[in-house]
Amino acid sequence: MLIQNGTIITDKSSIKADLRIKDGIITEIAANLIPESNEEIVNAGGMLVMPGGIDVHTHMDLDVGIARATDDFYTGTVAAACGGTTTIVDHLAFGPEGCSIRHQLDHYHTLAEGKAVIDYSFHGVIGHVDDAILKEVEELVGEGITSHKFYLTYGQKLTDREFFLLMRKAKELGIMLTVHPENHDMVGCLKELLIEQGKTSPIYHAVSHPVESEAEAINRLILFAHVADDAPLYIVHLSCEMGLDYIRQARQRGQKNLFAETCPQYLVLDESRYREPGDAGLKYIMSPPLRTTKDNQALWLGLQDGSIQTVATDHCPFFLKGEKQLGKDNFAKTPNGAPGVEPRMALLFSEGVSAGRIDAQRYVEITSTNPAKLFGLYPRKGTLEKGSDGDILIVDPSVELTLTHGMLHENVDYTPYEGISLRGYPYMTISRGKIVAKEGCFLGEKGSGKFIKRNLPILRNIR
Ligand SMILES: [Zn+2]
Repeated sequence: MLIQNGTIITDKSSIKADLRIKDGIITEIAANLIPESNEEIVNAGGMLVMPGGIDVHTHMDLDVGIARATDDFYTGTVAAACGGTTTIVDHLAFGPEGCSIRHQLDHYHTLAEGKAVIDYSFHGVIGHVDDAILKEVEELVGEGITSHKFYLTYGQKLTDREFFLLMRKAKELGIMLTVHPENHDMVGCLKELLIEQGKTSPIYHAVSHPVESEAEAINRLILFAHVADDAPLYIVHLSCEMGLDYIRQARQRGQKNLFAETCPQYLVLDESRYREPGDAGLKYIMSPPLRTTKDNQALWLGLQDGSIQTVATDHCPFFLKGEKQLGKDNFAKTPNGAPGVEPRMALLFSEGVSAGRIDAQRYVEITSTNPAKLFGLYPRKGTLEKGSDGDILIVDPSVELTLTHGMLHENVDYTPYEGISLRGYPYMTISRGKIVAKEGCFLGEKGSGKFIKRNLPILRNIR
């Protein structure tokens, strides 16, 4: 394949050039490449040619007990591909109490294989820590699982002692730990009190998950990671300014292996959504909840100054009808999560690049390069250079449209981003040299995505 006439953008540079892919791998980037016979030509005139998006926070097919995320690895990756994403790293559901990490990894291989249409990997999930788990974490490095997730809330949350032992191990091995930070007891008490008082509408979901709950957990994690000799720590779905302040201060104090992810919902939506009429507020029930417009602005600033390094989605869709509606009389009964894997790249481009908040190189860095580095995919993924996979997103920066549920491929009955005006949209997505999506149409093949064994994270010079 030869991609002609585009502007090639990476985290480092922006140049007018053509790009050649052979057998799925980028072989040449230079001006005025001469087409070879039988070469597929893509004309990217007026467009931006960038590394495909990498979404390191999805929950395909997630079983949460009361419901199951409605995108499986086929529909979810079709949606991702149509939105410009070429790799996902999925966060797994907990297995039975006390199970090994491998128990869930084995299960997820069967969920994804033969279905995913783009490349994928998994973060391990850790619901308890003992000698067997610490040994397994070490063994899994050789199998390409170089990151894990634990929670400070929900049924299989870790104690301080458990995650401290895990952090010391992560530091020794050079692997990444990702964490869902919320103070379990604070949220639990608030929920009980609110429901006792009959405060059961969606806005009380936000009230029961205050920013202090998230910020307390973030600060506790930061301090433990510091004592664990600056163990690699990655805060997922950062939603608030108070949590960001702790992260920024710690990085400024020299805690270099501390990283943070935010998501489009925390950049462009706010808690007023919970007050939408009828049961519409249920659409936005996720944890952490949507915050204030002040928090939105603070997170953009965090992306600009390098305090936040990545944007992922926490894609976890449930139908409003029949599923989110389980919470219509009590917010606490709503399955938590919302869709977003498809519009991530477009939302970030429009609200970020077109709106002048970040430049195109920073866009590439936070949506692709940094996720690739932090999760051991770089330079195979996350950049455009000779030898990298031919995973490419071509964006038309001039197209203007209104985002609606009807144009998306996510298997769910709404989008939280309904009606948002966009400037710039994915024109084409290419996975290892094959066109998988063009102008909103899926052109790929079920099962063509491969499991990617990941290397150790690259932690240096990430901003
Ligand atoms: Zn999540």
